[in-house]
Amino acid sequence: MSAADTLLLLLLFAVAAGLGWFFARRSANRGLATGPRHVSAEYFQGLNYLLNEEPDKALEVFIRMVDMDADTIDTHFALGALFRRRGETERAIKVHQNLVARPDLPREARARALNELAEDYFKAGLFDRAEQVYAQVARGNAQREQGLRGLVRIYELQRDWEKAIGAMDQLVSISREANGTVVAHYSCELAQEALGRGDLLAARHWLKRAQAADRHTVRGAMMRASVAQREGDHRLAVRLYEQALERDGGFLVDVLPELRRSYVELGKPAAFEQWLSNAIEKHPAWRPGVAFAAITDGSFDDSVTRQAIVDFIAGNPILTDILETLRPTLETDGGKDAAVRRISGAMRRIAKASPRYRCEVCGFSGNALYWQCPSCRSWDTTRPVTKFRFEAMLDARALPAETARKH
Ligand SMILES: [Zn+2]
Repeated sequence: MSAADTLLLLLLFAVAAGLGWFFARRSANRGLATGPRHVSAEYFQGLNYLLNEEPDKALEVFIRMVDMDADTIDTHFALGALFRRRGETERAIKVHQNLVARPDLPREARARALNELAEDYFKAGLFDRAEQVYAQVARGNAQREQGLRGLVRIYELQRDWEKAIGAMDQLVSISREANGTVVAHYSCELAQEALGRGDLLAARHWLKRAQAADRHTVRGAMMRASVAQREGDHRLAVRLYEQALERDGGFLVDVLPELRRSYVELGKPAAFEQWLSNAIEKHPAWRPGVAFAAITDGSFDDSVTRQAIVDFIAGNPILTDILETLRPTLETDGGKDAAVRRISGAMRRIAKASPRYRCEVCGFSGNALYWQCPSCRSWDTTRPVTKFRFEAMLDARALPAETARKH
């Protein structure tokens, strides 16, 4: 916000304060108010600061002098919120601190002012202070839910998952909001950390907690499968990976290669093919996902997968055109299977040049799977991409050419 904007804002605030005084005096003259109020010398001093373009001094004066009735309290809140929205957090903090310090402030308004103050600290990046004030808000009744939500936000940012679970549990007890999915993610985060330091016992504990919080946790099933795989229990891994896919077919790209690996480890590649055939029949919508997983992984070579890839190509006009154009040449080079393999290889390169995951809420994309989107902070909204971005192929081809020209 420019200095001129701030001055204008304060001028409006001063006018609101002046009008408050004016109407209060009129009411007093009609005997409606408890006592007359005065436009104090302070008010003119404040205006004087404004005229001299000293907004901070003017702000100090105005927020100190305004009487607290319902209207002026709202004016303070509006001013504080405006400052924060415009990024002037120091001024917002000053307004809300002043509100909190007023002994005549009603209880509800104090809780609201505290919550606003915590928001200011949060926006300013002063997380320790924000946490303290949110905790204070959460201990009261008036703004308890907002306080707990603030705490959850801070604990998530600080990756303090145990505290996040605690705050979320309290939040559920008052808001009756279903939070199982998020608590399961917190538990999975703790399990992930435990796995990172090689503490399998703790990892198992947190994975159980995840399961208890959300019976249908896909992430929990995938993590448990991965632990089973690591321990050589491929039978369990197969069961859990299949369970994960039944819960959310959106993870075919990640799960299918691992599931196949466990089947192969068990010495049962044919059983994988059978399972895949049944699964596609049961969930026809999985077909493109299976094809995409097979193309990007590159190690599948069973008849069910090949058919899924052929269907995938047939369902895409660009790929069909390419296949038709190349067919005479490719067929002399080893038949239709060879043609499909070569097209798959080309598509694999396209997929590698494109982001692997995408948030379904805000569109944030990248090559890592974030269970909490780093952009919009939503949980469980990122899924593997299962579409080929053909322009990525052009970018990928342009890059080496650019480099080549430089040499
Ligand atoms: Zn997002």
